[in-house]
Amino acid sequence: MPTHQPRRTPGPRGERFAVLDPTTGEAFDEAPDQRPDELDAIVERAHDAWRDWRADPAARTTALFAAADAVEAAGADLAPLLTREQGKPLAESYAEIARAAARLRYFAELDPVPEPIADGRPVRSEIRWRPLGPVAAIVPWNFPLQLASAKFAPALAAGNTMVLKPSPFTPLATRLLGSVLSAALPQNVLTIVTGREPLGARLASHPGIRHVTFTGSIATGRAVAEGAAASLARVTLELGGNDAAILLEDVEVERIADRLFWAAFRNCGQVCMAVKRVYAPARLYSQVVEALAERAKTVVVGPGLDPGSQLGPVSNAPQLARVERCTAQALADGARAAAGGHRLEGPGYFFAPTILADVPSGSPVVTEEQFGPVLPVLPYGRLDEAVEAANDTGFGLGGSVWGTDLDRAEAVAGRLECGTAWINHHAELSLAQPFAGIKDSGVGVAGGPWGLYGNLRPFVVHRPEEA
Ligand code: NAD
Repeated sequence: MPTHQPRRTPGPRGERFAVLDPTTGEAFDEAPDQRPDELDAIVERAHDAWRDWRADPAARTTALFAAADAVEAAGADLAPLLTREQGKPLAESYAEIARAAARLRYFAELDPVPEPIADGRPVRSEIRWRPLGPVAAIVPWNFPLQLASAKFAPALAAGNTMVLKPSPFTPLATRLLGSVLSAALPQNVLTIVTGREPLGARLASHPGIRHVTFTGSIATGRAVAEGAAASLARVTLELGGNDAAILLEDVEVERIADRLFWAAFRNCGQVCMAVKRVYAPARLYSQVVEALAERAKTVVVGPGLDPGSQLGPVSNAPQLARVERCTAQALADGARAAAGGHRLEGPGYFFAPTILADVPSGSPVVTEEQFGPVLPVLPYGRLDEAVEAANDTGFGLGGSVWGTDLDRAEAVAGRLECGTAWINHHAELSLAQPFAGIKDSGVGVAGGPWGLYGNLRPFVVHRPEEA
């Protein structure tokens, strides 16, 4: 969890808090610091709006398609703001927006159909899917718009209304997205609230909320589940990861190096399912370290708004502190920085893309989710050792296997204990697939039809064949 939150500044428009630009570390705007007690009226309005929203699936579909168009049309306003508060290169902000629009269209077209129960009894039983009511969504700062849409697209398509809280580190683009969507959606169907804790804690435990869908760290996920237990609301948790990539003996290092590098460093490594540990056969170890280090040394790090930047700054000060702590500990544990290993001089939260070799397997950069532009590479002797090391963690989000013999790679991938495994790439997700971490990485299923049904409840009608 963050060790501190943005500064609070009382002002003429009510309490507000400062939003910092990670490129400079300076405040550039502010957002409303809404009080937890404001949620009572907000949830009540979401409940009132639910009556009409749930009643007309055809109107919902039309509204969600209009919402997708509105998001795309606002791209030129949303993208620079997202980059400013989050730090990512502008092209990646545009990609988030495109993904949000695509997700709205995907779920707008999904229709939960009534299902007959054929069990041989002389009764016509049927499952009809019904929405849950007002849903709460709480999201982190690494993909603010994409993750917000991953919450509201299935929830609204299912006929629920939603109150959504972005991270206080990245509230502005989500607020703008909320006002863009208000042109397409009826009032109070989607409400964005911003503020510092305990706003999220109050939202998660609010008695008027029927489903809490949360993306963030494992520690906060536990707190959210405890809060939701008070009203026995359904909980979906998408939590942290520490994904391993296992390279096989027959891997062609130069052929996969770019893909592997970007699977670890995209969005400055601040991706729940980034590659966070590489296991390389001892014979290829130096070659793998050098290939990744070469890329880490030449990648262009700079302000996200500069068109040439391939990596921006780390997104916020607590996250930078975490990356610095894990890296310093690894170096103290005997690791060697084949590239980077330090913060970049100058303003802002820039950290040199870092490849760590010779890291002890118990060092926090291997065992914890460091969530930054740092990648430890570990050698292995027997393949079984690599699979065991990959699985020897409380995390269980994703994993990947890299090699030339695809059948063999697939067999190894099948031994990974996680929700999604890839061969020769990592973290590519289709909108149509289920997304579910195991162990400490999550509870419930998002994505695809499973994401829609996660926002619905079965309502069963039994009717005899004869009166
Ligand atoms: P975080 O857990 O600190 O915060 C997430 C959200 O929870 C924020 O909106 C925050 O304000 C809010 N929050 C904080 N305390 C709360 C409380 N007591 N009750 C309710 N809400 C509270 O996470 P973060 O640092 O913003 O994000 C990084 C984490 O998110 C990483 O662990 C990453 O792996 C995870 N993540 C997971 C996925 C996934 O799909 N599995 C996707 C993206 C990020």
